[in-house]
Parts: sequence; structure tokens; C-alpha cells
Amino acid sequence: MTDKYRERVCNGYDHLLTIDERLCEVRTDYQHLLIFRNRAFGRVLALDGVIQTTEADEFIYHEMMVHVPILAHGSVRRVLIIGGGDGAMLREVLRHRSVEQVIQVEIDQSVIELCRKYLPNHSNGAFNDPRTRLVIDDGLHFLEQSDQRFDVILTDSTDPEGPAAMLFSEQYYEACKGCLTPGGVLVTQNGVAFLQLEEVRSSARHFKALFRDWHFFSAAIPTYAGGIMVFGWASDNPELRQHRLQTVQQRFSRSGITTRYYTPDIHRSAFALPQYILDAIGKPSR
Ligand code: SAM
Repeated sequence: MTDKYRERVCNGYDHLLTIDERLCEVRTDYQHLLIFRNRAFGRVLALDGVIQTTEADEFIYHEMMVHVPILAHGSVRRVLIIGGGDGAMLREVLRHRSVEQVIQVEIDQSVIELCRKYLPNHSNGAFNDPRTRLVIDDGLHFLEQSDQRFDVILTDSTDPEGPAAMLFSEQYYEACKGCLTPGGVLVTQNGVAFLQLEEVRSSARHFKALFRDWHFFSAAIPTYAGGIMVFGWASDNPELRQHRLQTVQQRFSRSGITTRYYTPDIHRSAFALPQYILDAIGKPSR
């Protein structure tokens, strides 16, 4: 009888994958960690019973969450990643030649160590890049005591339960704002909108109170069950979100980066949101 991984997506809806090979299962100081191989999605990381990332479809999530803000900004030098223990966010950020330093603040060292061992393609050497500075700490604690400033802050966290609960609070977003350079941008993993609409509403309320320009953009990642995932966008520079397609095309071409999901057209269209999300965040359709 094949072993199964069952995830409770919401009450009445479970997500089921076969565990074709159980690679690692531990309780770290912060969470339950499971890494297994699945015949459809390759190696899978789950934390506290929620799929975080899979070898097969991680490129979608990481390309969109990294290349949209960095190409929209146009001259990113310093990036902060909160979370991101599997290392794929760091890998994608380091592909940009303009980036001089990336600080990654991850609360759970075990996630980094075990993902480097069992999901090596995610970080693909990024933790050894001379531009990388890894900090083991709570993201909010780091931000509130930091005097550093970043052009882009990426919140690549687990969902707002457990160690990541505070990473969706107004206090956290305010701390992010305080660590952005003028015209910098915060991007957040903000859940599968159809099933986590209250999280989207909550982030929107906080963004609206703190930033001049805010919105969400989306992508469909197959193993995040329930539909499109939305990424929070918050900046005091409204122009970042309004670039002409030609500008994004030129920057993407100059970056020399090849992708499997991201394109300049997708970049721009990703900010177009379905009406139910616009209604939830109190934004009119154009
Ligand atoms: N791509 C995944 C997703 O969309 O949900 C997230 C990937 S990554 C594995 C999430 C990371 O956030 C984990 O390594 C976890 O340890 C980290 N994390 C959770 N709470 C944190 C906190 N308060 N400060 C820093 N890192 C945190």
C-alpha cells in the first residue's frame, strides 16, 4: 500500500500526494518538517502539514516573486529575503547582476540545512555566493533592530500560523516600510486567494494604511491547491507598477536571464485581478 501525504487545504477539502520515497522527517525547534519524493512533482517540502515547495513547479513561484519587483524597480542593489529556507528565492535574486548584497533572515536553521541536503537544486549553491549574508533570526525581530535599507524586501514565509503569524501583521509591514530605500518595494507571499481571502483583505488593509501604492499580482502554482496564489505589492513609488511593456521588455532583455514562466507580458498581466479579489480589497475594476 503506497504511503500517502494528505494535506487539509480547508474544511472539507484535502490534497493527497503519494509518498514514493520518504527522505526526511523531523520536528525542528519551530515546526514539523517532511521532505519526500512524489512521482508527479519530484521532491516535496512540507512544513507543519502544508506543502511549501516542489521541484517540479517551484520555478513559477520563485521567478514571479523575484523578477517582477526587481525588473519593475530597475536598479536593485540590496535585497532582503524573510524566510525562504529552501534557498530558491535566493537563487533567483542572485541571477540579477545589479544585486550587490542579499540578506536572508530565516528563523529555522534546520530548514536550510535539510533543504541543502535533500532539495539541492532549490538553492543550487546560492548560500555560498559571496553576495549572500544569511541570518538565523525571526524576520520581525531582525527588521525592528536593523538600520539597513533595502530596495526590495521579499517575504517568502509560511502561512500566518506558527512562527510566521507576525509576518502578516501591521507591525511587520511597518517594520518593512522602515527598512525600504526610497522607492523600494515589499512583496509578500499572500496565499491562495480563493481559499485565503481574509488574509488578502487583512494585508490590503495594512498596505493601504502604510504605503502610497499597493496591489497584488498573481500566478497559478499547481501544488498550492485551490487556485491562483497572490503576491502582495507595497511601495511608496506608484511608477513601479505602471511601466510600459517596452520598459519591462528592455530590462528583462538586458538582464540576460532566461526563465520558464516569467515573461514581460506575464509581468504586466499578473497585476490584473479577478473581480472577487478587487471587491475583497476594495479596489474598483478599471
Ligand atoms: N514558498 C513557500 C510558500 O509559498 O509558502 C515558503 C517557502 S519557505 C520554506 C518558508 C520559510 O519561512 C520556512 O523556512 C520557515 O522556517 C520561514 N519562517 C517562518 N516564520 C518565520 C519568521 N518569523 N522569520 C523568518 N523566517 C520564518
